[in-house]
Order: sequence, then C-alpha cells, then structure tokens
Amino acid sequence: MPALASLDDFASAKLALLEAQSLRRRLTKSQRDEAMWITRNGKRLLSFSCNDYLNLTQHPEIIAAAVAATQRWGVGSGGSRLVTGNHTLFDELETKLAALKGTEAATVFGSGYLANIGIIPALAGKSDLLLIDELAHACIWAGATLSAARVLRFAHNNVAHAAELLATHRHEHQHALIITDHVFSMDGDLAPVAALQALANQHDAWLMTDDAHGLGVVKSGPHDVPLQMGTLSKAIGAYGGYLCASRPVIELIRNRARSFIYSTGLPPGTVAAAIASLDLIASEPDYAARPLALARRFTKALGLPEAQSPIVPLVLGPAEAALAASKLLAEAGFLVTAIRPPTVPPGTSRLRFTFTAQHPEAEIDRLAALIRTRIQPLIMLDAVTRT
Ligand SMILES: *Cc1c(COP(=O)(O)O)cnc(C)c1O
Repeated sequence: MPALASLDDFASAKLALLEAQSLRRRLTKSQRDEAMWITRNGKRLLSFSCNDYLNLTQHPEIIAAAVAATQRWGVGSGGSRLVTGNHTLFDELETKLAALKGTEAATVFGSGYLANIGIIPALAGKSDLLLIDELAHACIWAGATLSAARVLRFAHNNVAHAAELLATHRHEHQHALIITDHVFSMDGDLAPVAALQALANQHDAWLMTDDAHGLGVVKSGPHDVPLQMGTLSKAIGAYGGYLCASRPVIELIRNRARSFIYSTGLPPGTVAAAIASLDLIASEPDYAARPLALARRFTKALGLPEAQSPIVPLVLGPAEAALAASKLLAEAGFLVTAIRPPTVPPGTSRLRFTFTAQHPEAEIDRLAALIRTRIQPLIMLDAVTRT
C-alpha cells in the first residue's frame, strides 16, 4: 500500500522535525483524584498546572449536582439545542450567566473553543475588520480565519497601536470588531478593558472580551462591553462556553453561529455542575478570592511583578530550558508544565504556574524557595551571557 506508506512517512518526518526542535508533545496519563494532586507514572505530584482554580472539578456538592441531573435526565442531550437537545437546565444556567455579567441574555456553547469559532464568523464577514491582541487565545484566531474578515493584530495591550490601526483602516470596512482575552492565558496579565471600550465607542467598533481565565476568580469590573464570552471549563470546573450579550445579539448567534447550530448540546450533568458552581462562587466570595491571593504570595516571595490573576509565568526563553526546569520541579514533587511554541511566541518558553484555592501555603513557599535557589540564577546567568 504505497499511498499509506507515504502518509506515515509524512507524519514521521513532521514528528522528527518537532522532536529536533524540542517541540514534540506527548500525552501523559494523569490521574486527578483529589483537588490539586495528580498521580503520574506512579508518582504523586502537587499540580500548579490545572485551570481548576477553585478545585470545583472534585467538589462533593458539584459532583452530586452532576450525578443527580444525569440520573434524572440522562447522560447526553441527544441533539443540537435547536432540534431536541435544549433541556430545561440551559435556561437556568443562561439566566445566571447574564445576571453575573450584567447583560440581557446569554447563550451556552459546547466549549469555549466552539464559542469563539462560532461567534466571530457570525458577526463579521468579508467587508469587516477584526482587530485582535497579538497574544489572544488560539481559538480567537481560528474564529477570525473562519470569518473571512480582514484581520489586523495590535501589539499586546497596546491601546495606542489599536487606535492607530482603527484611525487608518476603520473607514475601509463596514463593521469593526476588537477582540481580546480579559486575562491572558499564558501571561496572566489583564487587558485594558475600559480603555479598549472607550476606543471602540470612538470608532463605532464592537468590543469582545474572552474571560476564560477570569470568570469566578478575577473581578471584571463595571463596564459595558457588549460581547462577553468565556468558558465553564476552568474555575467553574465543568465544561462548555458561553456568550453574554444583548437579547438580539444572542438570538442572532443562535441562528447564525455554526458551532451552536450543528453541534450537540451539552449533557445535563455538565450544565447542572456549572449551575451549582456559579451558586457556590456567589455564596463564598472569600473562597473565590484565594487563588489570586496565593498567586500574590508567590510573586512577592520571588520578587516578580505582582500577580494580576491566578496565572504567573516565569519566562526561561529556550524550550530546552523550560523542559529542564519543569523536570527539576517534578523531582521535588511539583507538577509545572513547560509551555512552548506555538502556544507562546518563539524564544519565550516558560513555566506557567496556576494557583488554586486549596494550595497549601507551606507548599507554595517551598516551591518559591526552590525556584529562587535553583532556577532564577540560571535565568540571570543567561541574561548576562546574552548581553
Ligand atoms: C481555555 C480557553 C478557551 C477555550 O475554552 P475551552 O472551554 O477549554 O474550549 C478560550 N479562550 C481562552 C482565553 C482560553 O484560555
């Protein structure tokens, strides 16, 4: 079968290239059986790599809500929401999301990725302009590509650059959409949302924020952003994506977003878990504030800029350096995954630490001490040799 052999040759050659660049990725069996502890290859590690900021994936009340809904309504939704999959729990979840974000309405998608690849092409077409922060999440770029609109990237969090691009190009297009992460997934910093909203108003543009890493753990502040998307897969501990917006926009999305129309609705158990999580977060603000407080304990211990979210990057540069640092921490019992291109720009491979509500302070201090003595000196040495 020569055709098949050539397909395998193609795949093997691509993999060999990734291997040579230290960019090959592999799946590791990860048993998550208790809040932030993970067992891998027989070794129990304290994870600083999960997006489960409030440890709700393992919370007894959330699990009970998912089990009860599954027993009552079944494992799957059985169809697209526009056909028969719109079980009664969706309405309750969407009402809560809209109230939380201060919008008239909300709609839930199968995932955050599906939300972005559905929303963007539903709102922008070939006569329109998309202005996107250069560090925005991969699924925003995927949605932009699917839209056929003209795409311009602005320098990270640089409102002046976005303003310049709008001043030059806005008039060439019918509609303009500005899109940014609210909390940047690999850097943990926050977008200047109020300034971007003011800019959008000046240029008759629409602003969309992606709050995947913010919902539940970072306050989004009072603002009037008309398109607020996010995910139920991170602090909420379940799965799914959402858009909060005005009633007409939500109705349009339900009629035009292909990933909403042609994909099966979320299972009842998943929706029930998300509802239970939102209730828990609303009733326990001190608990929801813990991940950010712990991230700040860590940045203070290391003399890093104060954390703005539960995500803290430590940029090491070369992919090999990030892998070696990750290995060193694993030997000490910490799981901190190395993040490499294409997830981050070339030359900015890093350790990415995520803090969760139940991380013990003593372990955070032990982690910080290890980094201060074993990893930070290498970064400084590298900076000296490069200058
Ligand atoms: C994780 C993430 C998504 C995708 O959400 P999923 O529900 O995991 O598909 C979208 N945007 C950002 C910024 C993210 O970090």
